[in-house]
Amino acid sequence: MVAERVYAAGELVGVLTTEPLGRILDYKAPETGCGDGDFVEVPLGPRRVIGVVWGKGEGKFDPARIRSVIRVLDVAPMRAELRSFLARAADYTITPMAAMLRLATRAPGLGDPPSMRKVYRLADTIPNQMTDARFRVVEALRRFAGASVTLGELAEEAACGPAVVKGLVKLGVVLEQDAPRDLPYPRLNAAGSARLAGDQVAAGDALVALVAQGEYSGTLLKGVTGSGKTEVYLEAVAECLRQGRQALVLLPEISLTQDFIARVEARFGAKPAEWHSGVTMTERRRLWRMVGQGDASFVVGARSALFLPFQDLGLIVVDEEHDTSYKQEEGVFYNARDMAVLRAAIVGCPIVLASATPCLETWANVEAGKYGRLDLGARFGAAELPQMRAIDMRPEKLPSDRWISSKLVAEVQARIERKEQSLLFINRRGYAPITLCRACGHQVGCDDCDARMVEHRFLKRLVCHQCGATKPMPVVCPACGVEGRMAAVGPGVERLAEEVTALFPQARIAVLSSDLFGSARALKEQIALIAEGAADIIIGTQIVAKGHNFPLLTLVGVIDADLGLQGSDLRAAERTFQLMRQVAGRAGRAEKPGEAWLQTYQPEHPVIRAILGGDEEAFWRAEATERRAAGVPPYGRMAGIILSSPDVAQVFDVGAELARRDDPLRRVGAQVFGPAPAPIARVRGRHRVRLLVKADKSVALQPALAEWVAQIKLPANLRLSIDIDPQSFY
Ligand code: ADP
Ligand code: ZN
Repeated sequence: MVAERVYAAGELVGVLTTEPLGRILDYKAPETGCGDGDFVEVPLGPRRVIGVVWGKGEGKFDPARIRSVIRVLDVAPMRAELRSFLARAADYTITPMAAMLRLATRAPGLGDPPSMRKVYRLADTIPNQMTDARFRVVEALRRFAGASVTLGELAEEAACGPAVVKGLVKLGVVLEQDAPRDLPYPRLNAAGSARLAGDQVAAGDALVALVAQGEYSGTLLKGVTGSGKTEVYLEAVAECLRQGRQALVLLPEISLTQDFIARVEARFGAKPAEWHSGVTMTERRRLWRMVGQGDASFVVGARSALFLPFQDLGLIVVDEEHDTSYKQEEGVFYNARDMAVLRAAIVGCPIVLASATPCLETWANVEAGKYGRLDLGARFGAAELPQMRAIDMRPEKLPSDRWISSKLVAEVQARIERKEQSLLFINRRGYAPITLCRACGHQVGCDDCDARMVEHRFLKRLVCHQCGATKPMPVVCPACGVEGRMAAVGPGVERLAEEVTALFPQARIAVLSSDLFGSARALKEQIALIAEGAADIIIGTQIVAKGHNFPLLTLVGVIDADLGLQGSDLRAAERTFQLMRQVAGRAGRAEKPGEAWLQTYQPEHPVIRAILGGDEEAFWRAEATERRAAGVPPYGRMAGIILSSPDVAQVFDVGAELARRDDPLRRVGAQVFGPAPAPIARVRGRHRVRLLVKADKSVALQPALAEWVAQIKLPANLRLSIDIDPQSFY
């Protein structure tokens, strides 16, 4: 790594801004001088923008026209480590540097001086003279649970005007206080001793030793849900904190529960700093600043936490490393797991990838000796991995509006009698996936996308899951005009809830689907209530598959284990395998043993058999053999190119031209497939065409790709995005 340079007043410096200019701009260093990585404010045309000093100026421009840096901001400079991470990640994902810098500066008010502001809290007085709006404010403050909240944030959360809050301040129900904008996070106490048992001890020791070494290493921490992976990696975090360094734990957004935060608090005596979409802007700014000056030692966050300006990162953990939500598929296309490995390698710190069902890439890296592997065998305490069995649906002959087999009904009934919980899993949001006219067979589709509209009875509307467009439920068929024949076809989570209510009228039923909750916080609260036993039957979509702990749960019923086996996605088998095992892993986490039943029409399918047989290694080996033979990831390189435009002819023309001018790709032995209509051929009124590029593992694909797409001048309304290592093939 190059030495950090300091520039005297007037010297030329290069400044990278978040403006999409495609290059670094030259400025003169300010009176105070500046250094590499300093955050600065610079003039750009008539505006002032924020940027980072990115080395020496090029000096290619007319010196007379070069302007001066206005000032150096009062925040920690961006370290060389983060600068080279951004540059390498930009190269890997073929992303402009300005867009990378935007990812790394996602905190408001970076240029503002430290200052005070008003924050609001609940007083101890008993509220009276309450209106609906006032109640919402009180409720909102309860949800914030003492976290600093500003007037704007509070009014937004309570969906009321600021005057309502001010009224409550007058009444003494709400307190208005001055607080410094950014406070350091409480120190965590890492001294407490571990409570590891069995093979957790060896795994914990191994990770602690790696952290103590303080070099790059990659480790897969593998164990079924409930085996104590979190417990073990928190010991690695403890060692990192004892070294006085910072630790980052990445979780899929939805697993960032109060349950997890409470565990950290129990272990370390204080909460970690949180970074995810539910965090207020004020807290974001505070965290971003504090992490940069070393006053936040443990960050727990969603994928974008990877771009925080850590002062001295000593450990990264990626929990649920197989989770598809680590892949960002809009704006900058990146996989946070892979980028986390890159950052760890650049920083020179250990990275731990934790999962019950690692993805094939990680499994292959272990096989190739690039990662170490630590296994946690039995689940902690008495709980065992649940028994998994199939229910063959073919002889069931259920009516077309019912999906729960008699066997599963009996199992749920038995749980209700024993006061245990059951989970019914269906990976489909909404009420019914298809709305069909029984007179003409027309299926209601989205006007702007090539997708069917999904009925959401809860919203009383049809919703497009591609673009979010909604329309009212039609009474008259939009195609044939016949009235009263529109029918819901197929099950969604809401419709399953109806069937369950009819079957078990006495049971308390909770439906967990991301779109039924106004906010991530509301969802988390619901999950906490369920964990305490507030429901007999939980009906859930994919979100229940993520690491929640439901101690009373002893039965999991998978309504349609075949869903996901269809389709042409190269990862379909892997996904289904992971999802089913994750869902099944929900059962029997505490002392009660669990059972999982998979309803399937294909009990002989290899994936279903691998799930039931529990022979994971066999599944991975078979999957690896197939992918190696096909030359696809992780044994080959792939990139997806998506072209989109409102003009269908244009998008195909440009696609065809790209395919024709494939010299830069051919030179490195890469092949291009397509153009073909993308599996979802129209989204938000834009036609989409896809090209796929395949190359050998050893090929440096990115420079060839960059050269290839640069040959073509894109029409203004055509968008091109490059997705390296595409996850989904849409
Ligand atoms: P995983 O991350 O693999 O799902 P966790 O670390 O969440 O597993 O452990 C599952 C449950 O078992 C948690 O409630 C945890 O507190 C408990 N647990 C795990 N290991 C221990 C231990 N050694 N002593 C006490 N409780 C433990
Ligand atoms: Zn749509």
